[in-house]
Amino acid sequence: QLAEWAKLVNEPSISKDGVQVELVANIGTPKDVEGALHNGAEGVGLFRTEFLYMGRDELPSEEDQFAAYKAVLEGMEGRPVVVRTLDIGGDKKLSYLPLPEEMNPFLGHRAIRLCLDRTDIFRTQLRALLRASVYGKLKVMFPMIATLNEFREAKKLFLEEKDNLAKEGIPTADHIELGIMVEIPSTAVLADQFAKEVDFFSIGTNDLIQYTMAADRMNEQVSYLYQPYNPSILRLVKMVIDASHKEGKWTGMCGEMAGDETAVPLLLGLGLDEFSMSATSILKARSLIRKLSKAEMEKLAQEALQKSTVEEVIELVKNAVK
Ligand code: PEP
Ligand code: MG
Repeated sequence: QLAEWAKLVNEPSISKDGVQVELVANIGTPKDVEGALHNGAEGVGLFRTEFLYMGRDELPSEEDQFAAYKAVLEGMEGRPVVVRTLDIGGDKKLSYLPLPEEMNPFLGHRAIRLCLDRTDIFRTQLRALLRASVYGKLKVMFPMIATLNEFREAKKLFLEEKDNLAKEGIPTADHIELGIMVEIPSTAVLADQFAKEVDFFSIGTNDLIQYTMAADRMNEQVSYLYQPYNPSILRLVKMVIDASHKEGKWTGMCGEMAGDETAVPLLLGLGLDEFSMSATSILKARSLIRKLSKAEMEKLAQEALQKSTVEEVIELVKNAVK
């Protein structure tokens, strides 16, 4: 099997009936680029930037960040790279940035909420990203977006920094797609409105599942409620994909679910455009997609959406994909 997968490194991710999707990697540092390419990644679907801020005693400088973003963009040699802006707070704390203790950190002052409050931190990251944008195909994604106003505000700051750089005579790429993570149910429900303004969506199922089911993703005692195949989650995923396509935009997924064997047939059927996963899952997923018919998976997904429990969905997929 490993030998069979290895042959697919430079092959397209295309279904049996000729529909192409993109299989890309989740990475956490520039060092991960090598592994991504080695495993046949067609790009980076999620570059988590938290590593730049963690394990140190002060905020990373614009130069530090610029070097990291440039290294990834150059390393990916023109393939698309989706960089997620800082997603700190919640369970991820920084020693040099004391934040008040919160009763519910996962529902608290984190990610884009923190960045729109501490615009000094956010602007530094945006400048570093903009400066790096000339070294490859950069797309920028904002985490934990709950309202359209948050996206508009983040976009405004991005465009202001782009203007500032232009005035300083520093070049930036002409067009940089700006997207959002869909990981809060309000955003999935309102995806048709978001789709008019964002360039793309990337569904963050790790958080979307925990917020939809009201089940802490770290809590063992409620892990039985962490159900990627619950029809409610599949319906939200469908809403987001359909909304994006209606506006000519694309939808990816960068939560763990995107690389899961049971999920891939359903996601292909639901029309997902980009699957972002750990590098080591890419070739296996590509091999699977090349054996599936998109038209058949569409029917499978339609059936799954009509089921009432997670067990029924899993049973359905297992029987259809043997
Ligand atoms: C997610 O929430 O699905 C996601 C990809 O982000 P993280 O796991 O970093 O919260
Ligand atoms: Mg998340």
